[in-house]
Amino acid sequence: MNFKVILLTYFKKYINNKKSLYLFIILFILIFYIIFILILIFGNIIKLKLINIDLQNKLIEREKIVTQIIKVKFENKVLEEDLLEKKILEEKNEIKLIEEKELFNEKKNISSNVKSNYNTEPLGDDDSIVKFVTSNKSFNNIFYTPKNLVKISSNYIIDSKWWTQVLKKVANDNLQLMAEHFFNDIWEKIVVVSAYRSYEYQKWIKSRWCPDNLCAKAGYSEHQSWLAVDFWDTSTNYAWKSNNKLQKYYNWLFENAHKYGFHNTYQKWLNIDWYEIEPWHWRYVWKELAIHLKENNLTIAEYYK
Ligand SMILES: [Zn+2]
Repeated sequence: MNFKVILLTYFKKYINNKKSLYLFIILFILIFYIIFILILIFGNIIKLKLINIDLQNKLIEREKIVTQIIKVKFENKVLEEDLLEKKILEEKNEIKLIEEKELFNEKKNISSNVKSNYNTEPLGDDDSIVKFVTSNKSFNNIFYTPKNLVKISSNYIIDSKWWTQVLKKVANDNLQLMAEHFFNDIWEKIVVVSAYRSYEYQKWIKSRWCPDNLCAKAGYSEHQSWLAVDFWDTSTNYAWKSNNKLQKYYNWLFENAHKYGFHNTYQKWLNIDWYEIEPWHWRYVWKELAIHLKENNLTIAEYYK
């Protein structure tokens, strides 16, 4: 006997019993209703679950955005702090630069306050101060020896003769200020290859090889005073003109040396200056005359003509 037969038997047994039939129908509806309710509940549970997952995703997304915003804000803050720090540093540097510049100007003013005694200092036995010497004009006393010489010693100058070269103090002071200014502009030290040369030393130079258009006789050289210096290279004018660095140095000296009382003695060749052009040779002539020569484009030889 299978399940189908049992079911048929059951219906047959109760089909005539109306009470049992109603009961069966009610039971059936009840079961159906319970199943419907259960489906509804499960459906809602699943729906809630889905909403919950969606909400969680949204929360995670939001958290990510908030984290991103905080990160950006933090980075901006760090950037702002960096900028502020940089600005403070720049301001500090600027103040330092201004201070250095003021100090430099102060020193420059000291230099400009050095009394211009080019025409006023009594000559006494020192005839080098205003003396124009050239290949045919000597010192009054050809054995002239200056007094009170000081060593050229500065952080901005290289003495090519092992720190042995000397000049008169006022020329040396102004040379050092000029060298400091040069260093501030060019970032290089001025090299002094020759400063004071005694009568004997000049005689020795002259005895070796040097012709009159290049080297003065002993007693006739500006180097025998305490006024003249040679810078960097003393070969030829052509060597200077064809060397970018030397030309740059010369251009700087040409624009600035007069502010410190220095003048390039031999600029215009033999027929005017008695010597070949010597871009390396600068003589301390005091500020007033140096400025006068520069402003009027004169050499010292033209001035004394
Ligand atoms: Zn010279």
